[in-house]
Amino acid sequence: MHLTSIHPFITNSSKALVFSLYITTLQSHFTSSLVLKMTTTVNKHESSSSSLALVHVDVDQPQPLSVAPIVSSYNEKIRPVLDALENLRRLNIAKEGIQLPTIVVVGDQSSGKSSVLESLAGISLPRGQGICTRVPLVMRLQNHPLPQPELVLEYNGNHVATDEENVSDAINNATEELAGTAKGISNNPLTLIVKKNGVPDLTMVDLPGITRVPVHGQPDNIYDQIKDIIMEYITPEESIILNVLSASVDFTTCESIRMSQSVDKTGLRTLAVVTKADKSPEGLLEKVTADDVNIGLGYVCVRNRIGEETYEEARNEEQNLFEFHSLLSKIDKSIVGIPVLAQKLVHVQAMSISKTLPEIIKKINEKLANSLHELEILPANLSSLADAMSAFLQIISFSRDSLRKILLIGEFEEYPEEKQMHCTARLVDMLNSYASELNNCAESNATKDFLMEEINVLEEAKFIGLPNFMPRTAFQTLLQRKVRGISHMPIDFVDSVWDYLQNVVTTVLNRHSANYYQLQVSIRRAAEHLIAKKKKNCIQHVLQAVEMEKLTDYTCNPEYLEEYNKIVSHRVAFLNEVSSVNLYTSTVNLEGYGPIEVAQLKYYPHQVLTQAYDLKARLIAYWKIVLRRLVDVIALHLMLSINELVNVDFQKELCNGLLSSAGGGVERLLEESPSISGKREKLSRSVKVLKESKEMVANIIDRIGVYGDN
Ligand code: GDP
Ligand code: MG
Repeated sequence: MHLTSIHPFITNSSKALVFSLYITTLQSHFTSSLVLKMTTTVNKHESSSSSLALVHVDVDQPQPLSVAPIVSSYNEKIRPVLDALENLRRLNIAKEGIQLPTIVVVGDQSSGKSSVLESLAGISLPRGQGICTRVPLVMRLQNHPLPQPELVLEYNGNHVATDEENVSDAINNATEELAGTAKGISNNPLTLIVKKNGVPDLTMVDLPGITRVPVHGQPDNIYDQIKDIIMEYITPEESIILNVLSASVDFTTCESIRMSQSVDKTGLRTLAVVTKADKSPEGLLEKVTADDVNIGLGYVCVRNRIGEETYEEARNEEQNLFEFHSLLSKIDKSIVGIPVLAQKLVHVQAMSISKTLPEIIKKINEKLANSLHELEILPANLSSLADAMSAFLQIISFSRDSLRKILLIGEFEEYPEEKQMHCTARLVDMLNSYASELNNCAESNATKDFLMEEINVLEEAKFIGLPNFMPRTAFQTLLQRKVRGISHMPIDFVDSVWDYLQNVVTTVLNRHSANYYQLQVSIRRAAEHLIAKKKKNCIQHVLQAVEMEKLTDYTCNPEYLEEYNKIVSHRVAFLNEVSSVNLYTSTVNLEGYGPIEVAQLKYYPHQVLTQAYDLKARLIAYWKIVLRRLVDVIALHLMLSINELVNVDFQKELCNGLLSSAGGGVERLLEESPSISGKREKLSRSVKVLKESKEMVANIIDRIGVYGDN
């Protein structure tokens, strides 16, 4: 059976089966009675409490353990799992929300954390009084067959090979690099890989010890800093807390116990190591059997290396201590000594991994699917001129279709929520506000300073001739003055319309060329050029329209005469009222225009007022025609321009802009954007590693499955 191909489809119950087989295999290296218990429990529940509770069982029967190798072929089973985990760790899978099972070593300062780790690894770590461990130290122990150990220190992207003799210095140097030379701490981890014959396959994190009082050179908030780091590591459910306690202290007052209890109330993922058994043997048996502090995974009492002892000497001393010491020999052999601790840890780690693996596999699959999808939707890397050309033409044709819909037809399904892109409607809004601006400006106010301007102009237009002829120049002077007064409005209007169209065109082009960085710049430039040209052309037309209004006063619209006649019909009544105004009433009501201030008119002769009134009537009637023309003609011309833009100019201008030598030619399309190629590379790398991890994890399950079948 090859699970690689089927595991994404494994159901929960079949997963449980696979993992029970796996656990069974691991357990076969313990007692056989345990195998049975293990299989049934894991099969039934697969829950944390049931699997972890079993850890107690396996140490009921103490195993005679040789000093080295601490663990035997057991490692061979767990190594690939750890390798896979390590790879996942390197992938920084934690960032994706995938927590990996980790053994976290916590304890008060000088409780012996580093000493325990060095006992397990058989190497010397910086230890002693004061604060030695100042950064998280991820220690990855790997059993390997060669007599010569291999030690590598990794931090900040550095890989430093070292050896047992120099590892302590190397760690100190790296610590100084990460956390400075003072006594400060840092959350930037160090990874020490120890490949050595006989070590258990374990990955553990050594953390700075808890200290309440800052020593000289330490920041005041050192306690909080350390606490933050510890909490970060022990809070995830996947973490196994290895609580290191000195035999000399009262466990109930231990700070590290309080911290681990705060995240693991039942203690089911906490294991206690009691150090310095040699120093405080009195009452130790009672302490570990009473279990006042809820240690779910049990206690292991140890004696670490002291002074300049060799590793072997230390283990022999330890063995003798628990064998022959009057008090310590009474403690059950299943909970004493570094070898027991090693085996227990390996087991706990295996349980934790087996519990977490299905979730990890699920997450890997999800992430892989995501990355593959992202990769798929990345723009195709254009590799030939033909590809580039067709991509370019596609952008043009898609954009043109979009523009046609939003500018000409009024279909907005591509931009349902973006009101700004509902162009047909927005153009009407703009046109309406332009028209109302024209109608409400000073030039369109018919009643202000009523007849005064007309009187003044007539005064200057007088000529030698019969008095009842209206001088045409008077009308033209007034008309031109008015047209000049509003001439900026139509220009401002088309200006703002083309600014708006510029935005619309850019938005549409960006949308359709989003995947082609190399095209965007030149396309945008070509579009800007095109719009500028169109705008100029439009403004030219508006200027012409304004000039035409100034040059000739003509309309065939019957409304002109109708309006003129209507106003003139009120003339006699109006002028009569003007002549009868007095101190108390200085306004006269003109039908259709409301009350008009006329105080200053009464000083003019009747004949002047008659002519001025006549001139005013012509102007009012004609001005309406002019304004309407300025709206209509410009609206029609605008639509013509937009039509030409979409149907003709757009494609032509963009092709010219891009394919000309100034645009960089088609070759430009073949360069991929640095950001996209970077993204592609990152995704491809991620896909590769995820696939490898998936394969690796699947292989493990596969292998375990085969073991189980046997
Ligand atoms: P850490 O601060 O928790 O990492 O503690 P260290 O591992 O640096 O140990 C602090 C001191 O306790 C060192 O001087 C060790 O030699 C000493 N020590 C650790 N374990 C034992 C032990 O089991 N017995 C004795 N006698 N001393 C120990
Ligand atoms: Mg330490």
